[in-house]
Amino acid sequence: MFTAEPLIRLAAFLGVFAAVAIAEIAAPRRSRSYSRLRRWPNNLVITALNTAFLRIAFPATAVGLALAGERQHWGLLNNWPIPLPLAVVASVVLFDLAIYLQHVMFHAVPALWRVHRMHHADLDFDVTTGARFHPIEIALSMLIKFGLVVTLGAPALGVLIFEVALNATSMFNHGNMRLPLRLDRYLRWLVVTPDMHRVHHSILVGETNSNFGFNLSWWDRLMGTYRDQPIAGHDMMTIGIEQFRNSRDLWLDRMLLQPFRGPAGRYAITWRSAA
Ligand SMILES: [Zn+2]
Ligand SMILES: [Zn+2]
Repeated sequence: MFTAEPLIRLAAFLGVFAAVAIAEIAAPRRSRSYSRLRRWPNNLVITALNTAFLRIAFPATAVGLALAGERQHWGLLNNWPIPLPLAVVASVVLFDLAIYLQHVMFHAVPALWRVHRMHHADLDFDVTTGARFHPIEIALSMLIKFGLVVTLGAPALGVLIFEVALNATSMFNHGNMRLPLRLDRYLRWLVVTPDMHRVHHSILVGETNSNFGFNLSWWDRLMGTYRDQPIAGHDMMTIGIEQFRNSRDLWLDRMLLQPFRGPAGRYAITWRSAA
């Protein structure tokens, strides 16, 4: 099964992408500020670039490393006699907590915020935003994941489930689609919904620095970073950050150079004004 990893991931990506894109057409949540034609080619090319970059830069995937860990008995779960299903569930949940903490860290450290802010600088919020990350963030994230796989001794099945789920939920929770409010309420007790994650893409600093979760909504509730709704409402809220609001900033070259342009900005949690 693990030899089919690229195929499984590609099929999941295409299936979920198509489903969310259709839902965005059928029941949009907000009207768009920019046409798809202006944003999508750039966002999709960076997604493809990131996939190619990971293949070239890293000798193995996280799943491949987990398989080696199973053979060599690396890490906690590979040395602890617990049933496989339990180890799979534990690793998926712990990986999700780690991704939450990593996301907070990318907002807290000014140098890391420079890298992560490209995700926030998208001027609309839709399925393609969910895969719009800077290659440096993708590489750092992969190194953190490698560290976790080795120390936790995560089973390869757990890592594969997590990788596919993270990719799918990232497209789902960036969807510009209108879910019935009652359904949103129920879903939110377990997972991050588009309305919940949209708050995180608000231009307001306090809202940007809330709702860091990607899969499970529990972490924000437990850590006190949960915000129910944007103060201006979903229709009137402004998406993006203050720094990069020119439509030219939506182009691929500007996206790639964004970490190196201008000051880190006042969104970084540990930012202090000179005064
Ligand atoms: Zn963020
Ligand atoms: Zn996001």
